[in-house]
Amino acid sequence: MNLLERELHYPLGDTLPPSGKTLEVAPGIRWIRMALPFALDHVNLWLLRDTIGGVEGWTVVDCCIAHDDSRAQWEEIFSTGLDGLPVLRVVVTHMHPDHIGLADWICKRWNAPLWISATDFYVAHVLSSQGDSLAGGDDAADFFAAHGLSDPKVLESIRRRSDYYSELVPSVPRRFVRLLDGDSIDIGGQAWRCIGGYGHAPEHIALYCASSNILLGGDMMLPRISTNVSVHAGEPEADPLKLFLKSIERFDELPSDALGLPAHGKPFTGIHQRVRQLQDHHRDRLAELLEACMLRPHTAAEGMPILFKRQLDVHQTTFAMGETIAHLHLLWFSGQLQRQLGTDGVYRFGRFPDRAAPSA
Ligand SMILES: [Zn+2]
Repeated sequence: MNLLERELHYPLGDTLPPSGKTLEVAPGIRWIRMALPFALDHVNLWLLRDTIGGVEGWTVVDCCIAHDDSRAQWEEIFSTGLDGLPVLRVVVTHMHPDHIGLADWICKRWNAPLWISATDFYVAHVLSSQGDSLAGGDDAADFFAAHGLSDPKVLESIRRRSDYYSELVPSVPRRFVRLLDGDSIDIGGQAWRCIGGYGHAPEHIALYCASSNILLGGDMMLPRISTNVSVHAGEPEADPLKLFLKSIERFDELPSDALGLPAHGKPFTGIHQRVRQLQDHHRDRLAELLEACMLRPHTAAEGMPILFKRQLDVHQTTFAMGETIAHLHLLWFSGQLQRQLGTDGVYRFGRFPDRAAPSA
């Protein structure tokens, strides 16, 4: 939760689009807010008025998870929120279930193409079809165990969550149009520039329109919660926090009064302040972890309560572990900490005496 939220401005106040309805936030841009059955209880989706090949219609940005509730809300929007026009294109900012879950269903229903980054397209296919997930399955349980998670009940329930992704994303379109950092795409006669972002998803694409001064920030620029930045079992040696902090610098290049349309939370201005808040937030957490690890080596499981002081359920534990490892990895890769694999098969991060280093 962002304690400095007052530094941001919400031009619509507390107004939210009702379930199954849209709310116009700028000419030709409609906001849809769908409920999610998680701690993160909603996702924002967007409709952009568009014309493709002389046909009038809408570009959809992000899709929600493949649940019947979300399909029902889409059905209502299809019949009452599109002014009788078709969906012409589906843009997905990244491969997480709340963004890509219903993309295949919407694309098939409207015979509309999916536009997404190449990396996220292929990762979505792998996770949707192989019955494994970012946050569950044997690989994830083994990975978290190697980072000190030892509660057998928690590990067992992580092991059992092997179909988490494919339940929320049962299918992915077989073809796509590639979104690439720096590309400009025409939506309804306006140019939207793709801004690649890393560290949250493999290749997240935010979209910025200079003429309307609007940023579709996806999950990379959220006003209230901080974007999850995690190390996952599939890329265990990653340094995603470095990538994330580098990525958000890009939003500093936008005009200071740009309107941010985030995937979670409300439309806001104050993007530069938000970049600063996120930088400070991670700097403070890195400092806390560093201090603890300097006193004595810590596993990620031991570091987790330093960053997350509240009680966590299994789902939140997987996020919190991934995020703690991300912070430890930044400290490790930047040379501020070392990593040691104990005889118990568990990684610890700290400052180790010279004799602990492998001899040359
Ligand atoms: Zn996401």
